[in-house]
Amino acid sequence: MEERFLSRNFDIPNAHTLAVFEKHGGYQALKRAVTMDGDSIINEVKKSNLRGRGGAGFPCGIKWSFLPKESDVPKYLVINADEGEPGTFKDRYLMELDPHRHIEGCIIAAWALGIRYGYIFVRGEMQHAIRRLEAAVKEAYAKGYLGKNILGKGFDFDLYVHPGGGAYICGEETGLIEGLEGKSGQPRMKPPFPAVVGLFQAPTIVNNVETISAIPFIIEHGGEWFAAMGVEKNGGPKLYGVSGPIKRPGVYEARSGITVRELLEEYGGGMLDGHELKAFIPGGSSCAVLTPDKLDAVMGFETMREAGSSLGTGCVTFMDTNTCMVRVAARLAAFYHHESCGQCTPCREGTGWATKVLDAIEAGRGRPEDLDLLLDMCSNIEGNTICALGDSIAIPVRSYIQVFRSEFDAHIKQGCCPYPAWTKKRLRSSVAA
Ligand code: SF4
Repeated sequence: MEERFLSRNFDIPNAHTLAVFEKHGGYQALKRAVTMDGDSIINEVKKSNLRGRGGAGFPCGIKWSFLPKESDVPKYLVINADEGEPGTFKDRYLMELDPHRHIEGCIIAAWALGIRYGYIFVRGEMQHAIRRLEAAVKEAYAKGYLGKNILGKGFDFDLYVHPGGGAYICGEETGLIEGLEGKSGQPRMKPPFPAVVGLFQAPTIVNNVETISAIPFIIEHGGEWFAAMGVEKNGGPKLYGVSGPIKRPGVYEARSGITVRELLEEYGGGMLDGHELKAFIPGGSSCAVLTPDKLDAVMGFETMREAGSSLGTGCVTFMDTNTCMVRVAARLAAFYHHESCGQCTPCREGTGWATKVLDAIEAGRGRPEDLDLLLDMCSNIEGNTICALGDSIAIPVRSYIQVFRSEFDAHIKQGCCPYPAWTKKRLRSSVAA
């Protein structure tokens, strides 16, 4: 196992408290950051090759440089802590076990970018994370790390923890901003991008939890050090999730550029005894499905694209040979249909139609022409919607049909699911749990 940074405090008792965090070097990066000017910090972040850890992978330093330096209105930092992508469960660890590291990253970002207010928009169901963050924010105010004249530098920054309502679409940055403004979480047309017109119409930077939690390490060790811990264009250590019928499911820290095989075998302990790997999705349910011949693919944004999928959040879901791929596709379609905000016809109607057709195939009522119909629907949704939720159903559903076409054909020809009934029961109980 490699040296840990992002997760180094996870096993330290009470590391979520200010006293323990400071005892282990907490807030030293902030003290260093306030001796640097904003441009120097942005340059270090650019050099680090830190890519957004929420799934889109946009280079963080470049995003920061889009924020106007001068503004007539206060600028905002918004943390996307609405982790709702099925199969993804890493940010909650950072918020629950190391909240001060995240707050330190927020303050450094605010100092570098001249930001006055910050909001951490946390998925409402994550009550433990919300409580931990609120307590940590309170401690940071009491110690003078937040509020007025931080560290005597004449710099003011207020940070608020905002529980969201639990809608998947609030994980999309403009949907999140709408939600933060008290409206329905319906994504906005872009441009303008939030860096220019964001929260309350003001310049806003939206970053993922893990992205901001990495900032103190970049300040501490330098951008080049961070970049060297990854592969080209993908810097630094990263948190990966591994789940499915494997021996040690969980969240692990490793360098950017680890292979899926290493994650499965060295970190996840391999498949459970008696279970054979059939497929995996590299970074959340909106990624295309891959087969075991892609296990040596490197977990990077470009490399995963070359392998036929996307890195997404880096939380890999493994599936065994008992898994019915028609059922997986049907459940994904139903999820995205439920979470569609309804603004765009292709997404609102397409997700519903895809769900109906996939349910029919899964139940043995499919027709041979349904697969081409589904592929056609995917083509009509993809790229024709306001936000990426439309793509999030089109891309995986198309991939399940293309990669496992024979399985879909078998359902249609046999008029039933060829998988044993106990598999369905197991899937149902895991969904209910
Ligand atoms: Fe809403 Fe779907 Fe359109 Fe996104 S793609 S704005 S979720 S209807």
